[in-house]
Amino acid sequence: MKREFLALEVTSVVLGACREFLAKEGFVELLPVILAPVTDPLRTTPEWATISAYGRSWYLTRSMIFHKQAAVRVHPKIFCFSPNVRLEPAERAKTGRHLFEFVQLDLEVRGASREEVMDLGERLLLHVLGEVRRECGKDLRVWGREVPEYSRPFPRVSWHEAREEFGEDFEVELSRKHKEPVWLVDFPIDQREFYDREDPERPGILRDMDLLYPEGYGEALSGGEREYQPERIKARILRQGLSLDAFRPLLALAEDGLHPSAGFGIGVERLVRFLCGFSHVGEVRLFPRIPGEDALL
Ligand code: AMP
Ligand code: MG
Repeated sequence: MKREFLALEVTSVVLGACREFLAKEGFVELLPVILAPVTDPLRTTPEWATISAYGRSWYLTRSMIFHKQAAVRVHPKIFCFSPNVRLEPAERAKTGRHLFEFVQLDLEVRGASREEVMDLGERLLLHVLGEVRRECGKDLRVWGREVPEYSRPFPRVSWHEAREEFGEDFEVELSRKHKEPVWLVDFPIDQREFYDREDPERPGILRDMDLLYPEGYGEALSGGEREYQPERIKARILRQGLSLDAFRPLLALAEDGLHPSAGFGIGVERLVRFLCGFSHVGEVRLFPRIPGEDALL
């Protein structure tokens, strides 16, 4: 079996397993939004992709974070396979983890705590691993990859502890050192975007998390609780030196009433790369969009 064929088979099983798991948990699937008047600020990706149409400019969505916050006003549990365009700097092609167009499974739960969505994330991942082992285990073994088995809960390390133990490169080190997925929690406020909720009991610390794959594969997902009160959102936007004007649609929604919520986004290509044991996330896609590289089709 060719690697491209295997990647397609595994991706298909992953998508099916996620949908099956989330439907049983009471989630509904949103259709993706690709063009929007406002999108994720993502300060580490400074370039924006836009198109103009009907006399104005539209962003290609970098994530559906604000759409998720709006959607949980309508339904308490939503998910979406969301195509994201992020014009990553060309040197990120070398990380093995970055595409400039990718898909994330993005989900949000009204009224949930960070701990509740971490629990959901662990169960989702174990379900997907089980299905891929059952459906594709034999084919993966031919390529030298054994689908790993883990038990819950996964270990949790705070951002500060990780930084103290491993220095600047703590994410890579943590992912290399661990034999099972590991949670990184409690990011300092200025490390993340304004929508991650500040812990009311620990100012300066966020109620958020990343999950890291073991074996050096790095970040699997990011998420957390969200800021939802207009005054808090405004203060956080200004704290990051962003303009309130740029986020007017979100502020209008918040004035109208957003719910507390929590959720996460897990990159589909990175998950399949991990399951297949591939060295580059581009190997997962038939038509990869690798920063700085051309595409035939
Ligand atoms: P973020 O909210 O930026 O953490 O993105 C959510 C998830 O999407 C990450 O945890 C990754 O799994 C995935 N992801 C983010 N950026 C990229 C990228 N450039 N290429 C592929 N996957 C990505
Ligand atoms: Mg992230």
